[in-house]
Amino acid sequence: MSINVPRGTKDILPEEMFKWHALEELVRDTCRLYQYKEIRTPIFEHTELFTRGVGDTTDIVQKEMYTFTDRGDRSLTLRPEGTASVVRSYVENKLFGLPNQPIKLYYMGPMFRYERQQAGRYRQFVQFGIEAIGSKDPAIDAEVMALAMKVYEKAGLKKVKLVINSLGDTESRQAHRDALIAHFEPHIQEFCSDCQNRLEKNPLRILDCKRDRENPLMTTAPKLPDYLNEESAAYFEKVKHYLEVLKIGYEVDPNLVRGLDYYNHTAFEIMSEGEGFGSITTLAGGGRYNGLVEDLGGPEAPGIGFAMSMERLFLALEAEGKSFDNQESLDMYVVSMGDSAKDKALSFVSELREHNMSVEMDFLDRKVKAQMKSADRLHAKYVVVIGDTELETGKVALKNLSTGAQKEMAFEEIVENVEQLKLSWQEELA
Ligand code: ATP
Ligand code: MG
Repeated sequence: MSINVPRGTKDILPEEMFKWHALEELVRDTCRLYQYKEIRTPIFEHTELFTRGVGDTTDIVQKEMYTFTDRGDRSLTLRPEGTASVVRSYVENKLFGLPNQPIKLYYMGPMFRYERQQAGRYRQFVQFGIEAIGSKDPAIDAEVMALAMKVYEKAGLKKVKLVINSLGDTESRQAHRDALIAHFEPHIQEFCSDCQNRLEKNPLRILDCKRDRENPLMTTAPKLPDYLNEESAAYFEKVKHYLEVLKIGYEVDPNLVRGLDYYNHTAFEIMSEGEGFGSITTLAGGGRYNGLVEDLGGPEAPGIGFAMSMERLFLALEAEGKSFDNQESLDMYVVSMGDSAKDKALSFVSELREHNMSVEMDFLDRKVKAQMKSADRLHAKYVVVIGDTELETGKVALKNLSTGAQKEMAFEEIVENVEQLKLSWQEELA
């Protein structure tokens, strides 16, 4: 019996790898411009990091974690998200003590959640995210959103929108919380069991419920912006101001709340408006998390970040009918006939590779015609055929496969001129 990949996971096959490489490069390059440095934390952590860091009233902690006990009887969890790990590492490695502040970090790697599989929702998916820790300047909130938008822009997406809200500080959240309880309590029996549990623990999360979305009490619920105290309202105004300075369009959605417990002040999501994107349109989510660093044993250090999944970015590209170009190509295919020609082909190929050319040859003892077919299929730019004559004269016909033009050259001549030839062959032989 054959074995398949676990539900909700998939192989990324060589033929689609180019788009991953292209996106990864785009991400790294953007982070370099914005001065965010990569951090790599373990794939698994102590379970407690997530129950404390993500919050035990969240869907992630309650339903979605891959938790296991190792042979040493420790409870470990495959990371469901990146922020908790990054903050743990920030505290553990005392990054708050480094001279350059705030600390600006990015990560890119697999996350694991036990979810119902559907388009855009997987059990293993790759998240790219950033965290800026150590500043409560609203300008950095704007920078964080700008970076996310820049990634989508560079990837070629046009139909994306930024939706923002403010959750306010602790005092504002408390006032809003009381109002929410008063609003929902008399009718809580109409809501799902999760929401009934949320009422006391974290009524804000009711607004984020996917099952009770249509309940009329949702739209009439007390809105966060009406409960912001002066300071929180002023902070939100500044964030919007800086977005305007950066010429980044946004919409305010007073009902936007994020799934994770640790957010305060700025919360945002980036949505795709591409047609045919399906029901899950959120591409990225993020927000401010002042207090999380202290919750995880660090000093007072305000933070903000976002996370996006690469898979949803690819889906959004598809919905807009766009794709990355496949830049990965083969420079030359070396065809050979006979044993001594094969020796020469092997050494010639290896020499060209030393000179930074991507080169392929036959390893199936095929006839010349079949080797030529391979060269075609691999989209080789050039092909040479080595036989007895070429061995004697030391010269080969260098053929440009796209134009059909040919040029006679000595083996050494090709090797010596690789750099120039790579640039000019196209024209010279045209
Ligand atoms: P949703 O409401 O769609 O479940 P979420 O609030 O759980 O999203 P976050 O935890 O904020 O999502 O994660 C940030 C981003 O990670 C999402 O906007 C999305 O792009 C991506 N993401 C989250 N869960 C998955 C998943 N199961 N598969 C693929 N991408 C995901
Ligand atoms: Mg989710």
